[in-house]
Amino acid sequence: MSRDVDPEVPSPRDVVVIGRELAIAWVDGHESYYPFDDLRRSCPCAPCRAEAEIAAREGSLRVARGPVPGEISILRVGAVGSYAIQIVWSDGHDDGIFSFEWLRRACSCDGCSGPSGSKAASEETRLRDGRTRS
Ligand SMILES: [Zn+2]
Ligand SMILES: [Zn+2]
Repeated sequence: MSRDVDPEVPSPRDVVVIGRELAIAWVDGHESYYPFDDLRRSCPCAPCRAEAEIAAREGSLRVARGPVPGEISILRVGAVGSYAIQIVWSDGHDDGIFSFEWLRRACSCDGCSGPSGSKAASEETRLRDGRTRS
């Protein structure tokens, strides 16, 4: 079942730039960190998506057209309604609208992704086991 609006999508309490990362503190207490280079690579605007697709299809040569990793930085972060942020990059690119939902899903902390992604599943199993036993 899919719904148009997911009431579970959290919103950020605080969005700050720390070093070369964008840090988001969510209202539910969760904290996420997004390295600039990763964020820029994930820019959802059409030209960036097209670039990324070409790069994926033809190898990494085309990536050279984009900003050099380690050099791009964030000038400004603005709010877009109550569902997203807009990032203004140091090279003037500002078409990328990052929705809160996407950002939260892209969180790379141990609890959200990585090899421990199965953690939630095993926890669920444990809960279910506990319930059957009791
Ligand atoms: Zn873009
Ligand atoms: Zn997380």
